[in-house]
Amino acid sequence: MKTGSLRFANIHLQEGPIGLLTSSLRKGRLSQTYIFAGARSVGKTRLAKTFAALLQCLEPVTGPDGSAEDAPSWRPRPTSDVVSVGSAEDAPSWRPRPTSDVVSVGSPDACGKCLSCRRVMAGSHPDVTFLRPQGAEIRVAQVRQMQELALLHPYLGKWRIFIIDPADRLNESSANSLLKILEEAPEKVVFILVAEQVERVLPTIRSRAETVLFQNPSHHAAREAIARVTGRPADEVARVYSLTEGAFGAALNLAAQDLPVTGLLPLREAQVRFLEDLERFSGQVQERVNEAPSLEAALAVVEDPDLLLFPPLLASRKSLVRGLLLAESLPAAFPVLFSRVFLDVLDKARKGLDKVLETVIARQKSAYAAEILKEMDRQFGMAVQNLFQAQVVGLLECLRHWNEDLFHFSHTADETWLLNLDRKDDIMALSLVRGLGFAESGIQLLSRSLELLSRNVQPVLLLEHVLSSIGGRTP
Ligand SMILES: [Zn+2]
Repeated sequence: MKTGSLRFANIHLQEGPIGLLTSSLRKGRLSQTYIFAGARSVGKTRLAKTFAALLQCLEPVTGPDGSAEDAPSWRPRPTSDVVSVGSAEDAPSWRPRPTSDVVSVGSPDACGKCLSCRRVMAGSHPDVTFLRPQGAEIRVAQVRQMQELALLHPYLGKWRIFIIDPADRLNESSANSLLKILEEAPEKVVFILVAEQVERVLPTIRSRAETVLFQNPSHHAAREAIARVTGRPADEVARVYSLTEGAFGAALNLAAQDLPVTGLLPLREAQVRFLEDLERFSGQVQERVNEAPSLEAALAVVEDPDLLLFPPLLASRKSLVRGLLLAESLPAAFPVLFSRVFLDVLDKARKGLDKVLETVIARQKSAYAAEILKEMDRQFGMAVQNLFQAQVVGLLECLRHWNEDLFHFSHTADETWLLNLDRKDDIMALSLVRGLGFAESGIQLLSRSLELLSRNVQPVLLLEHVLSSIGGRTP
């Protein structure tokens, strides 16, 4: 979520994790390694950055009961045992000043304004380093580079902070290499591992870390928070939330923008519109890549998860899935034809982007060493692959969410459970013709398909199978 500066006060529905971090700061008991574990888009990365900002902040603030006298000073504890607060000499000069504008009374927060906070926010703080996957994994070479940095003194701030995001994408050798670093890390280093699937993080790493479990808010609580933060009316919030498939941070982002109003289309038109929007999306990506001032910036464009938040495409995808599920029946050839056309459009988009990238690389070539160019080329290839794969994933997830809604509604008839609350009439209508059994088998099929897709099974076969199994109301 982009709204607001990096302060705890701008993080919503995560009182537990914030409370845990602030209390460890107040007590001067900082862990050297944290694992921020929780579902997608609940604010893990945002909180990691915010925590880093607070640790580095030049003028941290605290609630009205705080004062300079009880200003916390802390040192990280190397493993699981707690190191007591250091002496006056080596205590960091962390002097909170009182303010009324904070999460809760007495809790420390970053100021959000100082040079350090601004640099963390811009991603340019020299002592806050992100380790992100290059392609599918975080590789051992990246971890080794991090090790060299970890041994250096902080350059500008008080700490060297490494945010490994997502840590469930460390491979076996990079995880082992990280473990060694954690074992030998100097005192002023803090590691934050962000993970959706914490069980994929090496148990030996987990046992050295303090795990901070993120709350997974209900759809209802998430919508209420979005309405509270953005001041938008409930029906608009419901629409934004359903467009982003219940991704809280993304919904909060989108709710701050003007959204196109799209009517509901019958299946045939929804399908055409979806494919057109996919082409527009691809055109927009190409344009942004073409305008990037450097290869790094071009790569950042393609890797930016927010790139996928292209509202017209989200809206037409929703319309398409609705059309699929509500159709009386699908033409026999639909699953095969649509899957082929959809993947052809994706393929064309991928080739188009590859071409743009080639010209961008050709233009900037002279500024880079051959070795780096080769590596960048590899990373572009993977990022582009992921970008378009995400469209197939998005369609399947959208279908799964409708089935989940159908399941919950058939089960409880409680609309606050619905992710697609803005489409509750459709879900009600569907629940009359298709019961729990249908929803349940749909959820299973889609979950399995998503899993297979993540293992690089041919998407065309998966899509055909899914569409012929769940599209249309009557067999
Ligand atoms: Zn600050």
